[in-house]
Amino acid sequence: MNDTYRHKGLRRKLIAQLRDKGIADERILTAMDTLPRHFFLEKAFEEMAYEDKAFPILKGQTISQPYTVAYQTQLLGVEAGQRILEIGTGSGYQAALLAMLGARVYSLERHENLYKNATLLLRQMNFVTVRTYLRDGYDGLLALAPFDRILLTAGVAEMPQNLLDQLAVGGICVAPMGEKTQTMCRIKRTSETLFSTERLADFRFVPFLKGIEKQ
Ligand code: SAH
Repeated sequence: MNDTYRHKGLRRKLIAQLRDKGIADERILTAMDTLPRHFFLEKAFEEMAYEDKAFPILKGQTISQPYTVAYQTQLLGVEAGQRILEIGTGSGYQAALLAMLGARVYSLERHENLYKNATLLLRQMNFVTVRTYLRDGYDGLLALAPFDRILLTAGVAEMPQNLLDQLAVGGICVAPMGEKTQTMCRIKRTSETLFSTERLADFRFVPFLKGIEKQ
């Protein structure tokens, strides 16, 4: 894995584009400027790693578009030391970004292949504050709940209540909700029993599917 001056230059341009598109959190922009996205893509897409586009990874899944990653991360309002449950590890890029912001990340993936690749890569890159699990995200991670933040990176028709129950009071969950296209929702847990939902911009995500997929 090689991060060249060329990659760094392309990354700087991508960051300028994200800023133009409205990403204002400098911590996120700095972290994305540092994190080599091309490490998370198939070799064939390396040249395109710094375009603001989603790309295929294994198993018909995608690494989210940089703008989408930045947008979701900004909505989460990550603070150092928070415990974050991510559902949909995919390439591991989003998990790595959250770790760079100082969070402890617990990331679930249903595809064994993706889980294995991301786990290996994150270990090679020395992301010791990310833990990955081969697990159906519908179950969450009850043994380690509650979480300060929950992030869904796959589109869900409706937010499963058992996941919201794993959010700490005062915590925030960001999830793309909808069938064919998704509206980004930010859900705050305002008390033991109350949740408030804001509906924001529209996106398109791969679906949140049930069950584990063995290679
Ligand atoms: N965060 C990823 C984006 C991956 S796309 C990245 O930065 O690359 C969404 C991922 O969610 C896919 O890898 C898909 O396999 C996974 N996924 C879908 N339904 C899931 C479920 N029920 N549990 C865990 N992962 C799921």
